[in-house]
Amino acid sequence: MAIDIGGTKIAGALVHPDGTMTATTRRPTPRGVDAEGVMAAVAEVVADLSGSPLWSSAVRCGIGSAGPVDTSRGTVSPVNIGAWRDFPVQERIAAELAARGAELPTVLAGDGVAMTAAEHWLGAARGYANALCMVVSTGVGGGLILNNQLHPGPTGNAGHIGHISVAFDGEPCVCGGRGCVESIASGTAIARWAREQGWT
Ligand SMILES: [Zn+2]
Repeated sequence: MAIDIGGTKIAGALVHPDGTMTATTRRPTPRGVDAEGVMAAVAEVVADLSGSPLWSSAVRCGIGSAGPVDTSRGTVSPVNIGAWRDFPVQERIAAELAARGAELPTVLAGDGVAMTAAEHWLGAARGYANALCMVVSTGVGGGLILNNQLHPGPTGNAGHIGHISVAFDGEPCVCGGRGCVESIASGTAIARWAREQGWT
């Protein structure tokens, strides 16, 4: 079982051992709600998946979340989901699964790290011993493969390239820094720049 929590959408799927996804579902990430309001959308995704005939064959649950994450504590504080600060997402999803009869081991990873694992397994980084994989979306995420192994670091944020400052006098970023990669090169920032230049 895979659950992906992003600033724009929350997605879920049941995944076969070969990587094929079935029973995919998604919800928009709620805006202007509190922490429980965001969690309610995650619970709806879990509820959708539990309707699949394959639900009872799931053996574990992987959770990818927008960062920063703290995988040592099972919490997330996504820059683009302001309602969640140190939110215990791993424990809450485990409880949601248990309530639907699936007491599964769960693993939490930053979404950039999860994407990197997938690219190394089945995608663009296949066959490479070392890789930095980047995702450009609502924000900019990343993850590292070093010596053929995923390298999430102690809290799960290694390779999170989006909040490295590349312009020290640049625009303030929601993270509190200035001139972050994400504040310049995310999908959101690219669209904002285009509008400022007069594009419609
Ligand atoms: Zn930043």
